[in-house]
Amino acid sequence: MIQRIGVIGGGQLGRMFTLDAKRMGYDVITLDPQPHSPCGQVADEQIVAKYDDLSAIDELGRRTDVVTYEFENIAIESVERLEQQGFSVTPSSTVLRITQNRLFEKEFVRNSGIPVAEFAGIDTDEDLRLACETIGFPAVLKTVRGGYDGKGQWRINTMEEAREALARASGAQLIYEQFVPFACEISVVCTRNAAGEIVTYPPSENVHDRGILFMSIVPARVNDEISDRARAYAERLALALEIVGTFCVEYFVTHEGQVLVNEIAPRPHNSGHYTIDATRCSQYEQHVRAICGLPLSQPELLRNAIMVNILGEGTGNHLAGVEQLLTDPNIVLHMYGKKHAVDRRKMGHFTMLVDGPIYGAAIEHAHAARALLHWTDLPDYAPAGC
Ligand code: AMP
Repeated sequence: MIQRIGVIGGGQLGRMFTLDAKRMGYDVITLDPQPHSPCGQVADEQIVAKYDDLSAIDELGRRTDVVTYEFENIAIESVERLEQQGFSVTPSSTVLRITQNRLFEKEFVRNSGIPVAEFAGIDTDEDLRLACETIGFPAVLKTVRGGYDGKGQWRINTMEEAREALARASGAQLIYEQFVPFACEISVVCTRNAAGEIVTYPPSENVHDRGILFMSIVPARVNDEISDRARAYAERLALALEIVGTFCVEYFVTHEGQVLVNEIAPRPHNSGHYTIDATRCSQYEQHVRAICGLPLSQPELLRNAIMVNILGEGTGNHLAGVEQLLTDPNIVLHMYGKKHAVDRRKMGHFTMLVDGPIYGAAIEHAHAARALLHWTDLPDYAPAGC
């Protein structure tokens, strides 16, 4: 019988997960090095420790009935340690090992019979020369581990640029990927529970700005066949990974109608925030259900939606324009309780619910709504957040 849930990581995904877990009656303890983290603010308790502090990880395992994590760049040893000590932790270390390494991940996806762009692992100058020759240009060179939101990746158009990027990566293991001139990017949030039930949400169409998600449009403006294929691939990966929990698969859709996996996130995902306001059961509740051995809820889109991320701009401690934003009854605002609006840091998002199909006018409206918001400095404004 599960009563207490542990969450490694104290960011916004943990926060939204915890808000649902609390509503459903669970106690939550989070572990994060930053005191008063976004998740810590809404959890019952926060253990302030690094993600690889094994004695703190042990404490989290001892004091909870199941442990999960809200981002994949944690030490694999922490998850392995919980497993070795006989604590319940999900997703498993096997899932984490695959998904935190772009090379293992792409190989796993390809071996599951699902298409990916051409890629090659790069350890040496010679590997790089061969990849440039066989895969060609343009390409993207990425660090195999640790990159997110466009960090640790370089667009490559020439051998010269490839060599420069290799030097800049200063010894990190790399993956050389064919650049996909995609028609659009989509993602599918999927949940599997231990009983083997699997549900998928309608694909979201994702617009990025310099590697960071800016806007998600739901449902994605792709035909039914592409939408079904993306959902079927996610289900196949859920089975192959034997994952228990919510995860997300990101895809490139090409002009020729190919659906290629870009990456897998073994946790709820930014592009699934819309599920809070536009479906009956959010991706976070679905994760609670999966890890607590409850039945899953069949996703149903109640309203179409556009989700817009609110990023920090490097200055300012107060988000201005909220009064104007919220005059629109179709907009729901979510802020994460972060104190420092560091440039391009995810500070919050809003979901705009849309009646009927999403055309240009609705997207324009979402842009205009975002333009109402900006960061200002309030001298006496001292929110409690991290
Ligand atoms: P990632 O961290 O791999 O999700 O990459 C962040 C963003 O960079 C993606 O959402 C794409 O917009 C872009 N990108 C990454 N890899 C490729 C690729 N092989 N071809 C085209 N665009 C890419």
